Amino acid sequence: MLSKVLIANRGEIALRVIAACREAGLATVAVHSEADRDSLHVRLADQAVCIGPASARASYLNIASVIAAAEITGADAVHPGYGFLAENAHFAEVVQECGLTWIGPPPGAIKQMGDKAQARRTAVTSGVPILPGSANPLTSREEAVALAAEIGFPVILKASAGGGGKGMRVVADARALLHAFETARMEAERAFGNGDLYLEKYLDHPRHLEVQILADAYGRMIALGERECSIQRRHQKLVEESPSTVVDEALRQQMCAAAVAAARAVGFTSAGTVEFLYQDGQFYFMEMNTRIQVEHPVTEAVTGVDIVLEQLRIAAGLPLGPRRRPALRGHAIELRINAEDPVTFAPSAGTVTELGFPVGPGVRIDSHLYRGYRVPPHYDSLIAKVIVWGRDRPEAVRRARRALDTFLIGGVKTSIPFHRRILEEPDFLAGRLSTRFLDRLLKPEAGT
Ligand code: ADP
Repeated sequence: MLSKVLIANRGEIALRVIAACREAGLATVAVHSEADRDSLHVRLADQAVCIGPASARASYLNIASVIAAAEITGADAVHPGYGFLAENAHFAEVVQECGLTWIGPPPGAIKQMGDKAQARRTAVTSGVPILPGSANPLTSREEAVALAAEIGFPVILKASAGGGGKGMRVVADARALLHAFETARMEAERAFGNGDLYLEKYLDHPRHLEVQILADAYGRMIALGERECSIQRRHQKLVEESPSTVVDEALRQQMCAAAVAAARAVGFTSAGTVEFLYQDGQFYFMEMNTRIQVEHPVTEAVTGVDIVLEQLRIAAGLPLGPRRRPALRGHAIELRINAEDPVTFAPSAGTVTELGFPVGPGVRIDSHLYRGYRVPPHYDSLIAKVIVWGRDRPEAVRRARRALDTFLIGGVKTSIPFHRRILEEPDFLAGRLSTRFLDRLLKPEAGT
């Protein structure tokens, strides 16, 4: 059994984990940087330990400090949230070697899915479709060009160790590929400490569909249906929903079965997500995220399953709560609210001078904001997630508009006006989505 959980994260996800721990009757330990001293997670956890200066590298990514905080406070488990150390297999191993419970998948599963080129091979051996592309990391740019010619341009170059949309390059022809190869390799080396690249066919107007997985230590694994995350800016998700307007029950069944097969192949337990691209009636494995995701609340809203609570149960050695794949009830949408200029997307740090959260049926706000909070410039700009639920998609959209109209934030610029525009777009309202959806809305923006 667990008794005290250290949360190796900050912001809204730290609060989300504290909420689940409280429900489960577990004590909590917050860790924080010097810049996050006044954060809500520090105030709401039972104990808090400062683990270093503002820079994430010196604090939230500092394994020795996080482990020391667990030892000092007598924590017996670590929840990594998302980002930071969540997909760092070495960290998971260290946690376990220190006799702590890791609230996440086995380190081996993190490793196998963390190398994206290897993950593609795992998909193939599990009978899950992938896009044509490299079976192994590319050894030279000549090899890349030969392979790209074989599968046909355009192709997308990706870092094997990549994440967060970083280091990807779409190339239209051999010349562009020759040109992009070395810079992409260097960028990957710098960002991830690993310069391995692979490439795959680039789809022109795909949808991003993903399947939430939960698995316990006793071999039970279930899929909680799909989320559609096609509304992206620079390959980063902005709006997510469940169910997808393009997925019927037959396709859902196929995708859930494929996701379970891929996850089973690496001995996965805990919560994770298998991501697919979908175009012209076909879906293709893209990668698996071996952690809780930002957008997990939309699945919670349509299934009634508390995914973070399930993570705690699984880590404690309890069997999975749900016995089979739940039917999706109603429709849920999540809007990621960032502290940024809604036109230029420049980050907007500063003090929150006014704050009023939307209320009313079908609205959930996951946010670490409070009046007087200073949004630090050092981290991700996500400041709130607005999750709405309706009996059907039109009701969810109406509630989303109502929530945004009554969300009061003063002192920092936010992406709320941009989300409002999305909610009025005819293509959005008709459910006609692809990862190109925002292209038109962003046209005047330089560099996209
Ligand atoms: P990361 O892990 O860095 O977020 P992903 O592999 O998950 O990278 O891809 C992020 C996004 O990039 C996808 O949601 C999609 O919009 C786009 N993308 C990735 N691969 C392809 C592809 N082969 N064709 C078209 N778009 C792609």
